[in-house]
Amino acid sequence: MKFQILKTLKQNKGCYVSGEELSSLLGVSRTAVWKNISALRKEGFVIKSSSRKGYQLVSTPDVIIAEEIQAELSTKIVGKEVIYMDVVSSTNTVAKEKAAQGYSEGMVIIADQQTAGKGRLGRSWESPPGTGIWLSIVLRPEISPPEAPFITILAALAVARALEKTVGITPGIKWPNDIVLEKAKVCGILTEMSAEMERINYIIVGIGINVNQDIFDFPEEIRDKATSVKTVVGHTVDRKAIVMKVLEYFEKFYFSALQEGSKKKLVEEYRQYSLTLGSQVKVICQNQTITGKALDITEKGELIVQTENGEKITVFSGEVSVRGLYGYI
Ligand code: ADP
Repeated sequence: MKFQILKTLKQNKGCYVSGEELSSLLGVSRTAVWKNISALRKEGFVIKSSSRKGYQLVSTPDVIIAEEIQAELSTKIVGKEVIYMDVVSSTNTVAKEKAAQGYSEGMVIIADQQTAGKGRLGRSWESPPGTGIWLSIVLRPEISPPEAPFITILAALAVARALEKTVGITPGIKWPNDIVLEKAKVCGILTEMSAEMERINYIIVGIGINVNQDIFDFPEEIRDKATSVKTVVGHTVDRKAIVMKVLEYFEKFYFSALQEGSKKKLVEEYRQYSLTLGSQVKVICQNQTITGKALDITEKGELIVQTENGEKITVFSGEVSVRGLYGYI
């Protein structure tokens, strides 16, 4: 009901809605309306009230509300069910539990804070409260397990496009899974899978975007290679708007990737954002490091690297880290 009241006030932004109108619209008492208004105020919504005119929404805090996202998304499956949690260990861990319990494809877990956010290869991901987008999507594609890394390519492309659309900045992508602004990482993606030999049970795609952190919010050891949208654009940005666009683009790309022949087009689009192509890279794989030039990204999303002795190798995204020869990119 709180969400219904909020929705009505938003639809009438700049105008008063009387308590009577709200109570008859929602079929509840005026005391119930008043209680929900108080609850919204506690969450940071500024709502003016006048005994004669009613209630007027003045400003909205930067909070992520699952019902709002669900109601406003134009997607078919992604985000049709959203679970929002204030604090989780990691949204990927929660999404995995939900997927194992049989939750359906497209379900999204969003948290305001992760206490044990995960990067790839057991690394950790800093996820402080109130500033970032920490979300995971449950997928159940009918593809074979070796095709799963392509999901990371789609997610990276979706984040790049979403940032372009919502804040008007064009990021780069460091193959395969980092979104970069001004040479620093603004977003990381962690794709995890549960599969049998031939069949995928589920895939969890986790997306972490630094939105409203200041540079000093990052731990010192990553300050030189991490950034946030706010740091780059110079002002606070609406997290919900970015979440919506990420989910919408992701679904669009996901559906088209599942259709025969569309992967090529998606990879072409991905290449436009690539910071890795054409540069000298170090491919770090367990205890081996190969250096060479990043020549191409295949239709499957693999990276082709030409080593110093001219040999061309194909790099799969799961097990490696790619670094620039002289730094992070
Ligand atoms: P890599 O970029 O090393 O391949 P990941 O994509 O798995 O690895 O990201 C994990 C790494 O990202 C961490 O080891 C840390 O250096 C860095 N990191 C952790 N939290 C953040 C954050 N919020 N923003 C940017 N970088 C981060």
